[in-house]
Amino acid sequence: MKRKIFSNMVYIAFVAVMMTTILLSFIMYYRYMDQIKTGIKDEAAYMATSLNLHDKQDLDAYKNLTVSRITWVDSNGKVIYDSSGQENEMTNHRNRKEVKEAMKSGSGEDTRVSKTLNKQTYYYAIKLRDGTVLRLSRETQTIMRQIESILPILFLIMGVVLILAVILSRILTGRIVEPINKIDLIHPKKNETYSELKPLLNRIEQQNVDIEKQIEEIKEAENMRKEFSANVSHELKTPLTTISGYAELMKDGLVKPEDMKRFSGTIYTEARRLIAMIEDIIKLSRLDENQVELEKKDIDLYDLVFQIKADLRKKAEEDNISVHIRGVHTMVYGVYRILYEMFFNMCENAIKYNKKGGEVVVTIASMNDCPIVVVEDTGIGIPKEDLDRIFERFYRVDKSHSNQKEGSGLGLSIVKHGAKYHHAEMEVESELGKGTKITIEFPKQDI
Ligand code: ADP
Repeated sequence: MKRKIFSNMVYIAFVAVMMTTILLSFIMYYRYMDQIKTGIKDEAAYMATSLNLHDKQDLDAYKNLTVSRITWVDSNGKVIYDSSGQENEMTNHRNRKEVKEAMKSGSGEDTRVSKTLNKQTYYYAIKLRDGTVLRLSRETQTIMRQIESILPILFLIMGVVLILAVILSRILTGRIVEPINKIDLIHPKKNETYSELKPLLNRIEQQNVDIEKQIEEIKEAENMRKEFSANVSHELKTPLTTISGYAELMKDGLVKPEDMKRFSGTIYTEARRLIAMIEDIIKLSRLDENQVELEKKDIDLYDLVFQIKADLRKKAEEDNISVHIRGVHTMVYGVYRILYEMFFNMCENAIKYNKKGGEVVVTIASMNDCPIVVVEDTGIGIPKEDLDRIFERFYRVDKSHSNQKEGSGLGLSIVKHGAKYHHAEMEVESELGKGTKITIEFPKQDI
Protein backbone atom coordinates (compact mmCIF):
# COMPACT_ATOMS: atom_id res chain seq x y z
CA MET A 1 0.00 0.00 0.00
CA LYS A 2 2.81 2.36 0.95
CA ARG A 3 4.53 1.62 -2.35
CA LYS A 4 1.32 2.12 -4.27
CA ILE A 5 0.54 5.51 -2.72
CA PHE A 6 4.16 6.53 -3.26
CA SER A 7 4.32 5.50 -6.93
CA ASN A 8 0.94 7.10 -7.60
CA MET A 9 2.10 10.39 -6.13
CA VAL A 10 5.27 10.39 -8.23
CA TYR A 11 3.22 9.51 -11.29
CA ILE A 12 0.78 12.38 -10.63
CA ALA A 13 3.67 14.80 -10.19
CA PHE A 14 5.18 13.63 -13.48
CA VAL A 15 1.93 13.97 -15.42
CA ALA A 16 1.24 17.39 -13.83
CA VAL A 17 4.65 18.73 -14.88
CA MET A 18 4.24 17.39 -18.43
CA MET A 19 0.74 18.80 -18.84
CA THR A 20 1.66 22.20 -17.39
CA THR A 21 4.68 22.48 -19.68
CA ILE A 22 2.78 21.53 -22.81
CA LEU A 23 -0.13 23.87 -22.01
CA LEU A 24 2.24 26.71 -21.13
CA SER A 25 4.11 26.17 -24.40
CA PHE A 26 0.89 26.57 -26.36
CA ILE A 27 -0.11 29.68 -24.45
CA MET A 28 3.32 31.20 -24.83
CA TYR A 29 3.41 30.36 -28.54
CA TYR A 30 0.11 32.06 -29.27
CA ARG A 31 1.04 35.11 -27.27
CA TYR A 32 4.38 35.30 -29.10
CA MET A 33 2.60 35.03 -32.47
CA ASP A 34 0.13 37.70 -31.38
CA GLN A 35 2.92 40.06 -30.48
CA ILE A 36 4.69 39.52 -33.78
CA LYS A 37 1.48 40.03 -35.73
CA THR A 38 0.58 43.28 -33.96
CA GLY A 39 4.19 44.46 -34.34
CA ILE A 40 4.17 43.91 -38.10
CA LYS A 41 0.69 45.36 -38.54
CA ASP A 42 1.70 48.53 -36.67
CA GLU A 43 4.86 48.73 -38.67
CA ALA A 44 3.00 48.37 -41.96
CA ALA A 45 0.39 50.94 -41.01
CA TYR A 46 3.06 53.37 -39.97
CA MET A 47 5.05 52.89 -43.18
CA ALA A 48 1.96 53.21 -45.31
CA THR A 49 1.06 56.59 -43.88
CA SER A 50 4.46 58.12 -43.30
CA LEU A 51 6.50 57.13 -46.33
CA ASN A 52 6.68 58.45 -49.79
CA LEU A 53 6.46 55.06 -51.33
CA HIS A 54 7.23 56.20 -54.79
CA ASP A 55 10.73 56.54 -53.67
CA LYS A 56 12.41 53.19 -53.42
CA GLN A 57 15.24 54.76 -51.50
CA ASP A 58 12.96 55.51 -48.65
CA LEU A 59 12.24 51.85 -48.43
CA ASP A 60 15.91 51.02 -48.58
CA ALA A 61 16.53 53.42 -45.74
CA TYR A 62 13.76 51.84 -43.78
CA LYS A 63 15.11 48.33 -44.46
CA ASN A 64 17.96 48.96 -42.06
CA LEU A 65 15.61 49.93 -39.24
CA THR A 66 13.57 46.73 -39.19
CA VAL A 67 14.07 42.99 -39.16
CA SER A 68 10.95 42.56 -41.28
CA ARG A 69 11.31 41.83 -44.96
CA ILE A 70 9.65 44.53 -47.05
CA THR A 71 8.01 43.76 -50.38
CA TRP A 72 6.18 46.20 -52.57
CA VAL A 73 3.84 44.94 -55.27
CA ASP A 74 2.13 46.96 -57.96
CA SER A 75 -1.56 46.71 -58.67
CA ASN A 76 -0.92 43.86 -61.14
CA GLY A 77 1.01 41.78 -58.69
CA LYS A 78 4.45 42.50 -60.05
CA VAL A 79 7.12 42.89 -57.38
CA ILE A 80 8.50 46.44 -57.62
CA TYR A 81 10.68 46.26 -54.56
CA ASP A 82 11.96 43.63 -52.13
CA SER A 83 14.33 44.32 -49.28
CA SER A 84 16.27 41.22 -50.24
CA GLY A 85 17.18 43.11 -53.40
CA GLN A 86 16.06 40.27 -55.66
CA GLU A 87 12.84 41.88 -56.91
CA ASN A 88 13.72 41.20 -60.51
CA GLU A 89 13.90 37.45 -60.01
CA MET A 90 10.64 37.23 -58.15
CA THR A 91 7.47 35.82 -59.69
CA ASN A 92 4.17 37.65 -59.84
CA HIS A 93 2.65 37.95 -56.36
CA ARG A 94 -0.94 38.48 -57.38
CA ASN A 95 -2.04 35.10 -56.20
CA ARG A 96 -0.38 35.14 -52.79
CA LYS A 97 -3.14 34.90 -50.27
CA GLU A 98 -2.25 38.03 -48.30
CA VAL A 99 -1.74 40.11 -51.46
CA LYS A 100 -4.99 38.91 -52.96
CA GLU A 101 -6.88 39.76 -49.75
CA ALA A 102 -5.22 43.17 -49.48
CA MET A 103 -6.17 44.05 -53.04
CA LYS A 104 -9.71 43.03 -52.39
CA SER A 105 -10.37 44.32 -48.88
CA GLY A 106 -7.50 46.61 -47.90
CA SER A 107 -5.40 44.21 -45.86
CA GLY A 108 -4.55 40.52 -45.70
CA GLU A 109 -2.41 38.10 -43.81
CA ASP A 110 -1.06 34.57 -44.00
CA THR A 111 1.30 32.23 -42.20
CA ARG A 112 3.19 29.74 -44.33
CA VAL A 113 5.86 27.19 -43.70
CA SER A 114 8.44 27.22 -46.40
CA LYS A 115 8.87 23.71 -47.62
CA THR A 116 12.49 24.02 -48.50
CA LEU A 117 13.70 25.72 -45.37
CA ASN A 118 11.10 24.31 -42.98
CA LYS A 119 10.73 27.83 -41.65
CA GLN A 120 7.48 29.53 -40.84
CA THR A 121 6.82 33.04 -42.03
CA TYR A 122 4.10 35.51 -41.22
CA TYR A 123 3.01 37.84 -44.00
CA TYR A 124 0.94 41.01 -43.67
CA ALA A 125 -0.11 43.03 -46.70
CA ILE A 126 -1.79 46.46 -46.88
CA LYS A 127 -3.23 48.22 -49.92
CA LEU A 128 -1.96 51.75 -50.51
CA ARG A 129 -3.98 54.64 -51.88
CA ASP A 130 -2.53 54.26 -55.35
CA GLY A 131 -3.59 50.59 -55.55
CA THR A 132 -0.14 49.12 -54.88
CA VAL A 133 0.40 46.70 -52.05
CA LEU A 134 2.99 46.90 -49.30
CA ARG A 135 3.85 43.59 -47.66
CA LEU A 136 5.89 42.98 -44.53
CA SER A 137 6.97 39.53 -43.44
CA ARG A 138 8.95 37.98 -40.67
CA GLU A 139 10.17 34.49 -39.87
CA THR A 140 8.52 33.00 -36.82
CA GLN A 141 9.15 29.87 -34.82
CA THR A 142 6.83 26.91 -35.38
CA ILE A 143 5.10 25.51 -32.30
CA MET A 144 7.36 22.46 -32.47
CA ARG A 145 10.43 24.65 -32.48
CA GLN A 146 9.01 26.58 -29.57
CA ILE A 147 8.54 23.33 -27.61
CA GLU A 148 11.95 22.06 -28.68
CA SER A 149 13.53 25.23 -27.47
CA ILE A 150 12.13 24.82 -24.00
CA LEU A 151 12.82 21.08 -23.77
CA PRO A 152 16.09 21.46 -21.81
CA ILE A 153 14.35 23.71 -19.28
CA LEU A 154 11.45 21.29 -19.20
CA PHE A 155 13.77 18.39 -18.36
CA LEU A 156 15.47 20.42 -15.69
CA ILE A 157 12.15 21.40 -14.09
CA MET A 158 10.94 17.84 -14.33
CA GLY A 159 14.06 16.55 -12.64
CA VAL A 160 13.67 19.02 -9.79
CA VAL A 161 9.93 18.37 -9.44
CA LEU A 162 10.43 14.62 -9.47
CA ILE A 163 13.06 14.80 -6.75
CA LEU A 164 10.72 17.02 -4.73
CA ALA A 165 7.82 14.66 -5.44
CA VAL A 166 9.85 11.67 -4.26
CA ILE A 167 10.80 13.42 -1.03
CA LEU A 168 7.28 14.76 -0.40
CA SER A 169 5.66 11.46 -1.35
CA ARG A 170 7.84 9.63 1.13
CA ILE A 171 6.88 12.01 3.90
CA LEU A 172 3.18 12.05 2.95
CA THR A 173 2.95 8.31 2.43
CA GLY A 174 4.48 7.82 5.84
CA ARG A 175 1.90 10.16 7.37
CA ILE A 176 -1.03 8.49 5.59
CA VAL A 177 0.05 4.99 6.50
CA GLU A 178 1.12 5.68 10.08
CA PRO A 179 -2.40 5.78 11.65
CA ILE A 180 -3.26 2.56 9.80
CA ASN A 181 -0.14 0.83 11.10
CA LYS A 182 -0.95 2.00 14.60
CA ILE A 183 -4.46 0.49 14.62
CA ASP A 184 -5.04 -1.68 17.67
CA LEU A 185 -7.02 -4.63 16.34
CA ILE A 186 -7.75 -5.96 19.80
CA HIS A 187 -9.64 -2.78 20.73
CA PRO A 188 -10.74 -1.56 17.28
CA LYS A 189 -13.21 1.07 18.53
CA LYS A 190 -10.62 2.85 20.64
CA ASN A 191 -8.63 3.90 17.56
CA GLU A 192 -8.63 7.50 16.42
CA THR A 193 -8.24 6.97 12.71
CA TYR A 194 -9.77 7.75 9.32
CA SER A 195 -13.56 7.84 9.27
CA GLU A 196 -13.46 5.68 6.11
CA LEU A 197 -12.02 2.87 8.23
CA LYS A 198 -14.75 3.09 10.90
CA PRO A 199 -17.09 0.51 9.27
CA LEU A 200 -14.21 -1.93 8.96
CA LEU A 201 -13.15 -1.38 12.58
CA ASN A 202 -16.73 -1.74 13.79
CA ARG A 203 -16.95 -5.00 11.92
CA ILE A 204 -13.72 -6.24 13.48
CA GLU A 205 -14.98 -5.22 16.93
CA GLN A 206 -18.21 -7.12 16.31
CA GLN A 207 -16.26 -10.16 15.17
CA ASN A 208 -14.01 -9.94 18.22
CA VAL A 209 -17.09 -9.91 20.44
CA ASP A 210 -18.57 -12.83 18.52
CA ILE A 211 -15.37 -14.84 18.77
CA GLU A 212 -15.12 -14.13 22.50
CA LYS A 213 -18.73 -15.22 22.93
CA GLN A 214 -18.09 -18.38 20.97
CA ILE A 215 -15.01 -19.21 23.02
CA GLU A 216 -17.02 -18.67 26.19
CA GLU A 217 -19.81 -20.88 24.89
CA ILE A 218 -17.33 -23.60 23.96
CA LYS A 219 -15.72 -23.39 27.40
CA GLU A 220 -19.11 -23.49 29.08
CA ALA A 221 -20.18 -26.48 27.01
CA GLU A 222 -16.90 -28.19 27.83
CA ASN A 223 -17.40 -27.58 31.56
CA MET A 224 -20.97 -28.79 31.37
CA ARG A 225 -19.85 -31.94 29.61
CA LYS A 226 -17.26 -32.63 32.30
CA GLU A 227 -19.75 -31.96 35.07
CA PHE A 228 -22.30 -34.09 33.26
CA SER A 229 -19.99 -37.11 33.02
CA ALA A 230 -19.17 -36.81 36.72
CA ASN A 231 -22.88 -36.53 37.57
CA VAL A 232 -23.84 -39.43 35.32
CA SER A 233 -21.41 -41.77 37.07
CA HIS A 234 -22.62 -40.61 40.46
CA GLU A 235 -26.31 -40.83 39.57
CA LEU A 236 -25.94 -44.28 38.04
CA LYS A 237 -23.97 -45.54 41.00
CA THR A 238 -26.68 -44.83 43.60
CA PRO A 239 -29.42 -47.14 42.24
CA LEU A 240 -26.81 -49.74 41.26
CA THR A 241 -25.45 -49.80 44.84
CA THR A 242 -28.96 -50.33 46.17
CA ILE A 243 -29.63 -53.09 43.62
CA SER A 244 -26.38 -54.92 44.26
CA GLY A 245 -26.77 -54.56 48.08
CA TYR A 246 -30.30 -55.98 48.06
CA ALA A 247 -29.36 -58.73 45.57
CA GLU A 248 -26.39 -59.74 47.76
CA LEU A 249 -28.64 -60.06 50.83
CA MET A 250 -31.05 -62.22 48.82
CA LYS A 251 -28.23 -64.35 47.38
CA ASP A 252 -26.85 -65.05 50.85
CA GLY A 253 -30.32 -66.07 52.06
CA LEU A 254 -30.41 -63.24 54.58
CA VAL A 255 -33.85 -62.01 53.57
CA LYS A 256 -36.89 -63.42 55.32
CA PRO A 257 -39.45 -64.87 52.90
CA GLU A 258 -42.04 -62.25 53.93
CA ASP A 259 -39.55 -59.43 53.03
CA MET A 260 -38.73 -61.00 49.68
CA LYS A 261 -41.48 -59.07 47.82
CA ARG A 262 -40.37 -55.71 49.24
CA PHE A 263 -36.70 -56.36 48.42
CA SER A 264 -37.33 -57.53 44.87
CA GLY A 265 -39.79 -54.63 44.45
CA THR A 266 -37.03 -52.16 45.38
CA ILE A 267 -34.61 -53.84 42.99
CA TYR A 268 -37.23 -53.60 40.26
CA THR A 269 -37.96 -49.91 40.93
CA GLU A 270 -34.28 -49.00 41.04
CA ALA A 271 -33.64 -50.92 37.82
CA ARG A 272 -36.56 -49.10 36.15
CA ARG A 273 -35.13 -45.83 37.37
CA LEU A 274 -31.77 -46.75 35.87
CA ILE A 275 -33.36 -47.56 32.54
CA ALA A 276 -35.37 -44.31 32.55
CA MET A 277 -32.23 -42.38 33.42
CA ILE A 278 -30.20 -43.98 30.65
CA GLU A 279 -32.99 -43.26 28.16
CA ASP A 280 -32.99 -39.61 29.22
CA ILE A 281 -29.22 -39.44 28.92
CA ILE A 282 -29.40 -40.83 25.41
CA LYS A 283 -32.10 -38.30 24.44
CA LEU A 284 -30.11 -35.43 25.88
CA SER A 285 -26.88 -36.37 24.18
CA ARG A 286 -28.71 -36.71 20.87
CA LEU A 287 -30.18 -33.23 21.35
CA ASP A 288 -26.75 -31.95 22.29
CA GLU A 289 -25.10 -33.25 19.19
CA ASN A 290 -28.06 -32.31 17.01
CA GLN A 291 -28.31 -35.92 16.04
CA VAL A 292 -32.08 -36.07 16.24
CA GLU A 293 -33.78 -36.80 12.98
CA LEU A 294 -34.15 -33.28 11.79
CA GLU A 295 -37.31 -33.75 9.84
CA LYS A 296 -39.36 -30.68 10.68
CA LYS A 297 -43.04 -30.45 9.89
CA ASP A 298 -46.15 -28.57 10.90
CA ILE A 299 -47.33 -30.06 14.14
CA ASP A 300 -50.65 -29.45 15.83
CA LEU A 301 -49.80 -28.79 19.47
CA TYR A 302 -53.37 -29.50 20.58
CA ASP A 303 -53.32 -33.00 19.04
CA LEU A 304 -49.86 -33.59 20.48
CA VAL A 305 -50.94 -32.74 24.04
CA PHE A 306 -54.06 -34.84 23.55
CA GLN A 307 -51.84 -37.82 22.72
CA ILE A 308 -49.64 -37.14 25.78
CA LYS A 309 -52.70 -36.98 28.00
CA ALA A 310 -53.69 -40.42 26.74
CA ASP A 311 -50.18 -41.79 27.29
CA LEU A 312 -50.16 -40.48 30.87
CA ARG A 313 -53.69 -41.58 31.73
CA LYS A 314 -52.61 -44.53 33.83
CA LYS A 315 -50.17 -42.42 35.86
CA ALA A 316 -52.78 -39.72 36.42
CA GLU A 317 -55.37 -42.22 37.50
CA GLU A 318 -52.99 -43.78 40.04
CA ASP A 319 -52.90 -40.51 41.97
CA ASN A 320 -56.44 -39.54 41.08
CA ILE A 321 -55.29 -36.47 39.15
CA SER A 322 -57.55 -34.95 36.52
CA VAL A 323 -55.91 -33.59 33.39
CA HIS A 324 -57.71 -30.94 31.29
CA ILE A 325 -56.77 -29.56 27.91
CA ARG A 326 -57.92 -26.08 26.92
CA GLY A 327 -57.41 -23.88 23.93
CA VAL A 328 -57.38 -24.31 20.18
CA HIS A 329 -55.56 -26.20 17.46
CA THR A 330 -52.28 -24.37 17.06
CA MET A 331 -49.57 -25.23 14.58
CA VAL A 332 -45.82 -25.17 15.15
CA TYR A 333 -43.12 -26.00 12.64
CA GLY A 334 -40.84 -28.40 14.48
CA VAL A 335 -39.60 -31.90 15.21
CA TYR A 336 -42.39 -34.15 16.54
CA ARG A 337 -40.14 -36.35 18.72
CA ILE A 338 -38.56 -33.41 20.53
CA LEU A 339 -41.87 -31.60 21.07
CA TYR A 340 -43.41 -34.81 22.39
CA GLU A 341 -40.58 -35.32 24.90
CA MET A 342 -40.80 -31.71 26.06
CA PHE A 343 -44.53 -31.64 26.80
CA PHE A 344 -44.53 -35.23 28.04
CA ASN A 345 -41.92 -34.33 30.68
CA MET A 346 -43.77 -31.17 31.67
CA CYS A 347 -47.12 -32.97 32.02
CA GLU A 348 -45.50 -35.94 33.76
CA ASN A 349 -43.93 -33.58 36.33
CA ALA A 350 -47.27 -31.80 36.78
CA ILE A 351 -48.83 -35.16 37.66
CA LYS A 352 -45.84 -36.51 39.60
CA TYR A 353 -45.35 -33.45 41.82
CA ASN A 354 -49.08 -32.98 42.41
CA LYS A 355 -51.22 -33.71 45.43
CA LYS A 356 -53.65 -36.59 45.51
CA GLY A 357 -56.86 -35.58 43.76
CA GLY A 358 -55.11 -32.57 42.22
CA GLU A 359 -55.53 -31.01 38.81
CA VAL A 360 -53.43 -30.36 35.74
CA VAL A 361 -54.49 -27.85 33.09
CA VAL A 362 -52.72 -27.60 29.76
CA THR A 363 -53.58 -24.55 27.64
CA ILE A 364 -52.67 -24.28 23.96
CA ALA A 365 -53.11 -20.89 22.40
CA SER A 366 -51.62 -18.33 20.08
CA MET A 367 -50.60 -14.91 21.35
CA ASN A 368 -49.73 -12.32 18.68
CA ASP A 369 -49.15 -15.21 16.25
CA CYS A 370 -46.76 -16.87 18.73
CA PRO A 371 -47.94 -20.36 19.76
CA ILE A 372 -47.85 -20.92 23.52
CA VAL A 373 -48.32 -23.94 25.73
CA VAL A 374 -48.95 -23.50 29.46
CA VAL A 375 -48.82 -26.46 31.86
CA GLU A 376 -50.32 -25.61 35.26
CA ASP A 377 -50.72 -27.87 38.25
CA THR A 378 -52.15 -27.63 41.74
CA GLY A 379 -49.16 -29.49 43.16
CA ILE A 380 -46.48 -29.05 45.77
CA GLY A 381 -44.76 -26.10 44.05
CA ILE A 382 -41.06 -25.33 43.84
CA PRO A 383 -39.15 -23.28 46.44
CA LYS A 384 -38.02 -19.88 45.11
CA GLU A 385 -34.32 -20.63 45.61
CA ASP A 386 -34.59 -23.72 43.39
CA LEU A 387 -36.51 -22.08 40.52
CA ASP A 388 -33.36 -21.10 38.64
CA ARG A 389 -31.79 -24.51 38.97
CA ILE A 390 -34.49 -27.03 38.07
CA PHE A 391 -33.51 -26.95 34.41
CA GLU A 392 -29.96 -28.06 35.22
CA ARG A 393 -29.04 -31.63 34.50
CA PHE A 394 -29.62 -33.98 37.46
CA TYR A 395 -30.91 -31.15 39.59
CA ARG A 396 -33.70 -32.31 41.85
CA VAL A 397 -35.35 -30.29 44.52
CA ASP A 398 -34.57 -31.64 47.99
CA LYS A 399 -35.74 -35.24 48.03
CA SER A 400 -37.89 -34.86 51.12
CA HIS A 401 -39.76 -32.05 49.32
CA SER A 402 -40.37 -34.16 46.24
CA ASN A 403 -41.51 -36.93 48.52
CA GLN A 404 -38.95 -39.32 47.10
CA LYS A 405 -40.67 -39.38 43.70
CA GLU A 406 -38.73 -41.31 41.18
CA GLY A 407 -36.95 -39.30 38.52
CA SER A 408 -33.61 -38.69 36.91
CA GLY A 409 -33.42 -34.92 37.27
CA LEU A 410 -33.04 -34.80 33.51
CA GLY A 411 -36.65 -34.19 32.44
CA LEU A 412 -36.56 -30.39 32.54
CA SER A 413 -33.10 -30.39 30.93
CA ILE A 414 -34.70 -32.08 27.97
CA VAL A 415 -37.45 -29.44 28.01
CA LYS A 416 -34.84 -26.69 28.07
CA HIS A 417 -32.86 -28.17 25.19
CA GLY A 418 -35.97 -28.83 23.16
CA ALA A 419 -37.17 -25.24 23.67
CA LYS A 420 -33.78 -23.94 22.62
CA TYR A 421 -33.85 -26.16 19.56
CA HIS A 422 -37.19 -24.61 18.55
CA HIS A 423 -36.10 -21.09 19.55
CA ALA A 424 -38.86 -21.01 22.16
CA GLU A 425 -38.82 -19.06 25.43
CA MET A 426 -39.50 -20.67 28.81
CA GLU A 427 -41.01 -19.18 31.94
CA VAL A 428 -41.68 -20.80 35.32
CA GLU A 429 -43.90 -19.47 38.05
CA SER A 430 -44.43 -21.44 41.21
CA GLU A 431 -45.76 -21.04 44.67
CA LEU A 432 -44.84 -23.53 47.33
CA GLY A 433 -47.79 -25.70 48.31
CA LYS A 434 -50.05 -24.15 45.65
CA GLY A 435 -48.75 -25.19 42.29
CA THR A 436 -46.50 -24.57 39.35
CA LYS A 437 -47.03 -22.97 35.96
CA ILE A 438 -44.54 -23.48 33.11
CA THR A 439 -45.03 -21.54 29.87
CA ILE A 440 -43.33 -22.28 26.56
CA GLU A 441 -43.63 -19.55 23.93
CA PHE A 442 -42.64 -20.32 20.35
CA PRO A 443 -41.52 -17.67 17.91
CA LYS A 444 -43.94 -16.29 15.31
CA GLN A 445 -44.81 -19.00 12.77
CA ASP A 446 -45.20 -18.16 9.13
CA ILE A 447 -47.94 -20.61 8.41
P1 ADP B 1 -37.13 -35.31 37.63
O1 ADP B 1 -36.77 -36.45 36.81
O2 ADP B 1 -36.59 -35.35 39.02
O3 ADP B 1 -38.60 -34.99 37.62
P2 ADP B 1 -36.85 -32.79 36.23
O4 ADP B 1 -35.67 -32.24 35.56
O5 ADP B 1 -38.04 -33.10 35.43
O6 ADP B 1 -36.36 -34.08 37.00
O7 ADP B 1 -37.24 -31.78 37.36
C1 ADP B 1 -36.29 -31.28 38.27
C2 ADP B 1 -36.88 -31.05 39.63
O8 ADP B 1 -37.78 -29.93 39.58
C3 ADP B 1 -37.71 -32.18 40.12
O9 ADP B 1 -36.93 -33.08 40.83
C4 ADP B 1 -38.74 -31.51 41.02
O10 ADP B 1 -38.19 -31.36 42.33
C5 ADP B 1 -38.89 -30.13 40.43
N1 ADP B 1 -40.12 -30.03 39.62
C6 ADP B 1 -40.24 -30.18 38.30
N2 ADP B 1 -41.50 -29.98 37.89
C7 ADP B 1 -42.24 -29.70 39.01
C8 ADP B 1 -43.63 -29.39 39.26
N3 ADP B 1 -44.54 -29.33 38.28
N4 ADP B 1 -44.00 -29.16 40.54
C9 ADP B 1 -43.10 -29.18 41.52
N5 ADP B 1 -41.78 -29.48 41.36
C10 ADP B 1 -41.36 -29.71 40.12
